[in-house]
Amino acid sequence: MVNPTLKRLASPVLDPIGSALLMSRAADMGYAYRHGPRTQRRVALTFDDGPVRGGTEAVLDMLGESGVLGTFFCVGANTIMHPEVIRRAYDAGHIIGAHSMNHGRTGAVSPTDGTHIDDCLRELRAAMGKTPALYRPPWGWMTPWEALRLRRRGLHIIQFDVETPDSAVPCPPGDEMCAWTLPRVRPGSIVVFHDGKTHAERHDKPETARALRLLIEALRRQDYELVTIPDLLGVPAYQD
Ligand SMILES: [Zn+2]
Repeated sequence: MVNPTLKRLASPVLDPIGSALLMSRAADMGYAYRHGPRTQRRVALTFDDGPVRGGTEAVLDMLGESGVLGTFFCVGANTIMHPEVIRRAYDAGHIIGAHSMNHGRTGAVSPTDGTHIDDCLRELRAAMGKTPALYRPPWGWMTPWEALRLRRRGLHIIQFDVETPDSAVPCPPGDEMCAWTLPRVRPGSIVVFHDGKTHAERHDKPETARALRLLIEALRRQDYELVTIPDLLGVPAYQD
């Protein structure tokens, strides 16, 4: 375990370097999807770092009211804490993908250790009875050996091309987030929101829910169809 103080001091320096190196196409060997076909006005809304009480539930309420299905990339440790939230999302028809066991930075970098993947798949299977076929790396960090590890486990790597600013602290107002995000969306875009927080019992995200409602309305006015990742990319949601 890394000393927390050391980690806090090192992160502002090492995280941008890690992101520059590990979010490139070279890092994933071209295996990761960043968007779908640019020829159709279809967009996938995705949600990272849940499940939690509060944030995930508000997003599920909003998607339900809007009649939209989303794709949730879930943390294994949170799944142990909130299996009922996963089941609610799954039962409503949303797609559940994996987002590692503890959202650590080092999992993708480790040359041999795949437990961050396997433990997450096990917990998601325990919660919903299905093994995900979709994986989003925490921090977006990938390495060639992590890409091979994921492929060997039957997982499709799902990155994104539009990241909403909803993980900023403090979280911006929903209308500002929508205004920032909307012009960046193109046909085929994969949009990321954050509905949860690693290891949180409860994490409220009212501005994310507000931005989501405004974005759905605005995209529909622009004749976009809102679809899940399997629909956008033509890949399976689950392995069984
Ligand atoms: Zn994440």
